[in-house]
Formats: sequence, structure tokens, C-alpha cells
Amino acid sequence: MFKGVGRKTAQRMALETILLSPERVNQFAASLTHTRTHIRFCKACFYLTWGDYCHICKDTRRQRSVICVVSEPKDVLNIDQTGHFDGLFHVLGGVISPLDGIYPEMLRFKELRDRIVATGVRDVILALNPTVEGDTTVLYLKEYLSGVGVSLYQLAQGIPIGADLGYLDEVTIDKAFEGKRLL
Ligand SMILES: [Zn+2]
Repeated sequence: MFKGVGRKTAQRMALETILLSPERVNQFAASLTHTRTHIRFCKACFYLTWGDYCHICKDTRRQRSVICVVSEPKDVLNIDQTGHFDGLFHVLGGVISPLDGIYPEMLRFKELRDRIVATGVRDVILALNPTVEGDTTVLYLKEYLSGVGVSLYQLAQGIPIGADLGYLDEVTIDKAFEGKRLL
């Protein structure tokens, strides 16, 4: 059910959960339901939040001139936890994958372009997974954002082909950001 969680770990978590006291199980279930009901997408970057804007967008200490573009909310979590990137994020909601029925108009490209134009962003770092779909999305964005006046960067090669940024370790992500290159 959870990508990146092995069978044994999943079994252990399931056993520990069902052996909780009935009160704790109810609390756990209520907490999940509450979260699912009230969580929503940030109006600026589409990361997850309880209010209109996420804690990252609201953090005034972060650089506002740099946006890191990712595919999924879990990528924000993982990259942010490294503490290496102090700009803002933009979650596309996936990558272009015609075979899976995901086309450019279904992703948040227009929101990204509008945001860049409206807020004067100077640098955009494309932090997409090194897969065929990720690379296709990078090429598409390079064309789509040409003319808006931003410098586009891609993360350093060296991330294993087919890897998922949402699950990479901090050192690998740090290295990828350090070695980012202009597109
Ligand atoms: Zn946000």
C-alpha cells in the first residue's frame, strides 16, 4: 500500500495498529478522517496545508526569487527536510505521461507560469525524477517557460536513473542541488 515500505515493516505496523486499545484505534481513525477531510492544497505552491497557504510559502525567511518544481507533495517534504534548499516550491501534481493518460493540460504548468510572471521569480530549479516521463516534462517546461525571463536549472545527474526524489537520502539530494546545471 505504501511505496517504499517493505512487506515486513508494513506487517509490523498493521499488527501494532490493530493491537492498540479500542480507544487508541478510534483516536487514530478519527485523526485520519479529520486530516483527510481538512487537508487541502496551498493556493500558491499546491503543497499540503490546513489553511490557504502552506507553512513554506508563509515562511518569510525563505528566498522568494527561487522556485523548485517537483512532481508530488512528498518530494517537497523530502527536499525540505535536507535543509539545503531555502526557496519556495511548486508542485505540478505529476509528470507528463501519455501512456498513463496524463497530459500537460492536466498538470499545474499554467499556475507555475502565472506565478513566475506575477511574483518576479528569477530562478526555477526543475527537480523531477530521472525517468522518461520526468525528462519529457523538463523538455516541455523548457519550451513552455521560454520567454518569461527565468533561468531554468535541472538537478545534477548522478541521481540513479528511475529513482524517486521523494525517497532519496539527504546526501544524494544535497549533491544534486549543488551540481544543478543551467538548461
Ligand atoms: Zn505553499
